Amino acid sequence: MRIVLLGAPGSGKGTQAKKLQEEFGWPQVSTGDLLRSAVAAETELGKKAKATMDAGELVSDDLVLGLIEERIAAPDAAAGFILDGYPRNPAQAGDLERVLAPMGIAIDAAVLMDVPFDILMKRLTGRRTCSATGKLLNIYFSAQAEIDECLAAGGELIQRADDNEETIRNRLEVYSSQTAPLIEHYRSAEVLHTIDADGSVDDVYRSFREALGV
Ligand code: AMP
Repeated sequence: MRIVLLGAPGSGKGTQAKKLQEEFGWPQVSTGDLLRSAVAAETELGKKAKATMDAGELVSDDLVLGLIEERIAAPDAAAGFILDGYPRNPAQAGDLERVLAPMGIAIDAAVLMDVPFDILMKRLTGRRTCSATGKLLNIYFSAQAEIDECLAAGGELIQRADDNEETIRNRLEVYSSQTAPLIEHYRSAEVLHTIDADGSVDDVYRSFREALGV
């Protein structure tokens, strides 16, 4: 199955993609993660993308297209993949279709994760990654036991560079103006499913599976 996850930053795309990957084996393809790796490795691409990412703007369509083309062609993506954070604007949706068409494939489902604005803010400002276990946590929502588990493993709670309040506001604004138009794009293609994503991880995952029929 080839899935596009749609939803504002903080709507839980990464969390749900990881669960789907675990259960069904379709790899999570996150352009945000690919870009952050490039920034950390200080590659040419990473150097080009860093300032744009820190400001919460979108990096150029060509840069992300290169990453996506390479990742989708990898053997583990042959039976399906979950796009998390791509496409991010109508031009990228067109790029994606041009990459998939010669491979004889298309997007089977686009899932829109719907979350109220005030919840998004808390999810993003509270979001942390455990440096020891790699687990995604939230200082407002995670159980104390989960946070203790990280600290006991010698981990620190790391905040993403672009999870500060000013950049978050800009990322949400970029989502409304540039990414939200994709909702209509996938509705017209008759592959759009909307789910209420303001619930527990397990409840949202259940809705997800129902929407996908898997
Ligand atoms: P994310 O982890 O998906 O929230 O992405 C973090 C940042 O990476 C975004 O704010 C953008 O600067 C950049 N980024 C991720 N995916 C894309 C994309 N498809 N197009 C352009 N920029 C992207």
